[in-house]
Amino acid sequence: MHRGFEAVIGLEVHVQLRTRSKMFCACRNTSGAAPNSHTCPVCLGLPGALPTLNAEAVRMALTLGLAVEGRIQPQSTFYRKQYFYPDLPKGYQITQGPVAIVDGGHMDIPGDPRVRGVQGPVRIRLERAHLEEDAGKSHHDMDGRTSHVDLNRAGVPLLEIVGAPDLRSPQEASDYLKALHRLVVALGICDGNMEEGSFRCDANVSIRRAGDEAFGARVEVKNLNSFRFVRQALDHEIDRQAGLIEGGEPVRMETRGWDATVGETRSQRTKEAAMDYRYFPEPDLPPLTVDPAEIEAARAALPELPDQRIHRWCEAYGLGMDEAQTLAQSPAFAAYFEALAQLSGSGRSAAAWMLGEVSRTLNDRGIGIEAFPLTPEALAELLRLVEARTLALGTAKDQIFPALLAGEGPAEAIVARKGLAQVSDRGAIDALITQVLAANPGPVAQIRGGKESLKGFLVGQILKAGQGRLDARLVNEALAEALAKP
Ligand code: ADP
Ligand code: MG
Ligand code: ZN
Repeated sequence: MHRGFEAVIGLEVHVQLRTRSKMFCACRNTSGAAPNSHTCPVCLGLPGALPTLNAEAVRMALTLGLAVEGRIQPQSTFYRKQYFYPDLPKGYQITQGPVAIVDGGHMDIPGDPRVRGVQGPVRIRLERAHLEEDAGKSHHDMDGRTSHVDLNRAGVPLLEIVGAPDLRSPQEASDYLKALHRLVVALGICDGNMEEGSFRCDANVSIRRAGDEAFGARVEVKNLNSFRFVRQALDHEIDRQAGLIEGGEPVRMETRGWDATVGETRSQRTKEAAMDYRYFPEPDLPPLTVDPAEIEAARAALPELPDQRIHRWCEAYGLGMDEAQTLAQSPAFAAYFEALAQLSGSGRSAAAWMLGEVSRTLNDRGIGIEAFPLTPEALAELLRLVEARTLALGTAKDQIFPALLAGEGPAEAIVARKGLAQVSDRGAIDALITQVLAANPGPVAQIRGGKESLKGFLVGQILKAGQGRLDARLVNEALAEALAKP
């Protein structure tokens, strides 16, 4: 709870669909091409050019709608939203009207215990998801004097997913956005590239006194294109609104922009200055009708969803929800983990390595899993040696893993070459234990006198004496036996 206030947040997320062609014409939907090289009379808005709806975009909207368990509207209509901007050649954007292709739906996210009071998942409802077209891109920074317009993006299909005001903290907003990002990438409907704007969001936020029912006046923060910006912008905005109310001033309903360089939101336009978009139904497009067979085909083609996969991992590998969610951070990371779990035969230790040594290496090197030098097969060999208790876990982490990364060969060969195989020879272990017990008469007497907590100290001494190569489980067993003898 922030100074006795509760935040109410709802996100509008724009998802650029990965269709082959644009929303209403045959131009390629692609980024990075020469400016204005993918344009035609339709997306340039030339008089007399007529739009044709992209069936692939409709299929992608159905996919999302089904994945979030929304209702697919059998009929929805397109509208014209009029405004003037240089990167909008037609002078209007085609979007959907009061009835959208997807109605309702929901996403489950881990709730923020700091504001919910309890730990556990919360369900965030969706209001709707509708199809629309993107605008072109303006470049104001090419030579400092002129503005340039690139219309390759004009007419690229967007799916706008409007969430209900069910989020209660910046953390929840960011978790929701991450879950949605994972979902659209897993569904194959979006490339998920946030830096390039393929997945961007407007965040609506208001605050109210804890316990109040009514919502406060909301502020919309436009165009946030990273999870961190969403959190930062919302933190800042909640602070700002709380300050206003505490100072006896009203919060104005307005649109603000996030300035990442100064870490502030800035007013863009107030409600009084709100645009009148003069919406009216698009006369050049028939209503969009979806028949049950199309819905069933889309349902049959749904892949395993990130939430389902996370639950499967929790069940099959005994992972915690947080761990599973971190492992699912990107499709590539998830795929690597899945391969490692299968090849090593242990989901638990695969998870531990992914969240431990592998993540650390990626962070240190500033790379993604795509650039990780070891194949899942190569790493799995190391994990199998540990599982088979041929190799001590400590040795695997401290010595073999770095050697693998350095390209010194397969795990088994390195172990053999360096003579680092685990000692599971009971005789050798007993001999070391006898030595260590003899060297530590004080602690031994105390343990025999009931001070169990000192056992860990002895185990540490024994492992050290064995140069980290002893089988820790055998050491524990053997030590217990040795201590039980008078
Ligand atoms: P508009 O059409 O003007 O954008 P909507 O009613 O469709 O307005 O709401 C847009 C977004 O604002 C939704 O994501 C919704 O969850 C969110 N929202 C609505 N009211 C509030 C509020 N009081 N505080 C925070 N978010 C809100
Ligand atoms: Mg809006
Ligand atoms: Zn075109």
